Amino acid sequence: MFFRRTGEKAVLKAEVVHPGRRRFLALGCACCAAAALPAIPASAAPAGVQRHLDLARQAASSDLGTYLRLGNTALTPPAAPQINLAPLINQPVPPPGQAFDNLYFVGARWVSAWVIRTSAGLILIDALNNNEEAERVIDAGMRRLGLDPSEIKIVVVTHGHGDHYGGIGHIKRVASPKVIMSDADWTMMATKLEFDAPEWGRPPQRDVSVADGERIVLGDTSIEVLETPGHTLGTLSLLFTVRQGRQEHRALLWGGTAFNFGAQPDRLRRLRGYIDATARVRDIARQQKVDVFISNHAGYDEAIGKLATKQSANTNPFVIGTETTMRALTVMNECAQATMEAWKA
Ligand SMILES: [Zn+2]
Repeated sequence: MFFRRTGEKAVLKAEVVHPGRRRFLALGCACCAAAALPAIPASAAPAGVQRHLDLARQAASSDLGTYLRLGNTALTPPAAPQINLAPLINQPVPPPGQAFDNLYFVGARWVSAWVIRTSAGLILIDALNNNEEAERVIDAGMRRLGLDPSEIKIVVVTHGHGDHYGGIGHIKRVASPKVIMSDADWTMMATKLEFDAPEWGRPPQRDVSVADGERIVLGDTSIEVLETPGHTLGTLSLLFTVRQGRQEHRALLWGGTAFNFGAQPDRLRRLRGYIDATARVRDIARQQKVDVFISNHAGYDEAIGKLATKQSANTNPFVIGTETTMRALTVMNECAQATMEAWKA
């Protein structure tokens, strides 16, 4: 399908590349709940659970411990995450930064927002918790980086939890973007929110839906959309090319990481979806030589520290390599399998 705005050079196009593939299931935010917990102990679980935790620990090695924390969920009974948002939202705002020539971080400390610069305007990925935060963090951060928020043509909301859509009202006040989400999460937001909080802005009205295999195209930039259910039914992860000088890298932004759906009756189905999605995308990462793996929570990808390091480093710390990207997906996959074993019992 095609979205074209007449009178503008910008073209927003989404074409079906793999029309046969659809979502698998659902999964739930507290994206960062796991990131606040200590790493899993060496052996504290039944054998079936422990086997997967051991494989996760092996894959995490010494550099992917942020993802290994997902395994903590396997050590507790399924339950709704307990999150106190105010202290998370009120943390000092980290400096915005440029990860690549065409990719910018304009996030908060707890939850991230990214901007992709194209030849026909800007694509914002996620809108933070509320309008005040979107103005104070995204808008101000973009201006510091020399980006004009009124040039945002598209907002991709990775999933239907308020820490990712809550600031959309401010973005719509300063620009006139299309808002893109999965059909499943549009439906969830229009019917019954999985999570809500007084700190979160209201969900946007349904706008553009994309499905697995479709592409979002703006100017010279094409984003391949992957549905990676689990965290929510319709979590979107995004594949795109980032540039640094003459070098190009393939980036994967994972759209929903934590297993915060323990209170949902379909939690085992959601885990199954997450396990399948991480395994499938690990294959895609190998095929496409994905060497940049980023998140919508800096507690996982350590984006804030990497931006600080990048100032003085000769190499870009966001380029972790394909093997490390695949290991990260293996850690996530094995932690999900461990949690499945634990919750089945
Ligand atoms: Zn979430």
